[in-house]
Amino acid sequence: MVLGTYKEVVTARSTDKEIQKIAQDGGIVSALFCYALEEKLIDGAVVAGPGKDFWKPEPMVAQTADEILAAAGTKYTFSPNVLMLKKAVRQYGLEKVGTVAIPCQAMGIRKMQSYPFGVRFLADKIALLTGIFCMENFPFASLQTFISEKMGVSPELVEKMDIGKGKFWVHTADDVLSIPLKETHGYEQSGCKVCLDYVAELADVSTGSVGSPDGWSTVFTRTDAGETVFKAAVEAGVIETKPVDTGKFGLEILTKLATQKKEKAMKEIDRRKEMGLPVPFKASSEKEDPLANV
Ligand SMILES: Cc1cc2nc3c(=O)[nH]c(=O)nc-3n(C[C@H](O)[C@H](O)[C@H](O)COP(=O)(O)OP(=O)(O)OC[C@H]3O[C@@H](n4cnc5c(N)ncnc54)[C@H](O)[C@@H]3O)c2cc1C
Ligand code: SF4
Repeated sequence: MVLGTYKEVVTARSTDKEIQKIAQDGGIVSALFCYALEEKLIDGAVVAGPGKDFWKPEPMVAQTADEILAAAGTKYTFSPNVLMLKKAVRQYGLEKVGTVAIPCQAMGIRKMQSYPFGVRFLADKIALLTGIFCMENFPFASLQTFISEKMGVSPELVEKMDIGKGKFWVHTADDVLSIPLKETHGYEQSGCKVCLDYVAELADVSTGSVGSPDGWSTVFTRTDAGETVFKAAVEAGVIETKPVDTGKFGLEILTKLATQKKEKAMKEIDRRKEMGLPVPFKASSEKEDPLANV
């Protein structure tokens, strides 16, 4: 259960060369949305589009493949995609909305669907919730500070950011630089310290890089809707898959990281409870299996 409920898990990537070039990992998010748009399974998707500041995303409603591709790639700061869902329905008139969410946003969306106070018009219009793995996130000012001051790179020059092999990486046109993650820890958003979900357990389909080789993604299909669209995209040749290997890649590393995240967060939750501070309401160290906390 540490990886949530799922039907199937595979290693996968988009077969489209353009998506492979611009995507963060296997391009699963972009490929799935482009496919779902084309097949009219969704009529738009809320994605983290480019903003006015470099690397500060602006949520946007993408209604064409070009708009989806313009938002590809990970921005390691918040993109309040959930805020844009109301607009997607009310202003853009979408009936079948796709959206991409980090785990906390996926939780928010599911909560909103289960208790749709003030959003009844929206709750049943989420047609495809694609979740992305997330270990931690950074406020925009923190991200800018450690890139410019610790790494000595002007954020405008950054073409890609990535977390992997215990380091935070930035790619510029002619350089690749990294710092150990332990040097970025102090910059994390403090709410992330009580977050119990690594692999977007509540999404229809969730995906991330960990567990798969470079250029590929690990993909969990979790719900009927997620399974249907992912299988159809594979059958259409839009996405190629291979088994999740054990050993160097695969579920072992994912399970380890997800367990570490939950255990560390539970410790912090207990600490905050003792101090009388607010904590996520479902989290309880009294549960027989603390890893059952979502
Ligand atoms: C803060 C953060 C932390 C992450 N940590 C991990 C990790 O620890 N391990 C791991 O395996 N993967 C992690 N990921 C996920 C990973 O970086 C990729 O986003 C994921 O593998 C999807 O890649 P792709 O090639 O399928 O997506 P692409 O086709 O490149 O599309 C990425 C999609 O994500 C959207 N997006 C980008 N930034 C954000 C954002 N900040 N908030 C919401 N949506 C966004 C884009 O708009 C785009 O639609 C993290 C992502 C984020 C945003
Ligand atoms: S660690 Fe959790 S709370 Fe923080 S951004 Fe990621 S999903 Fe959200």
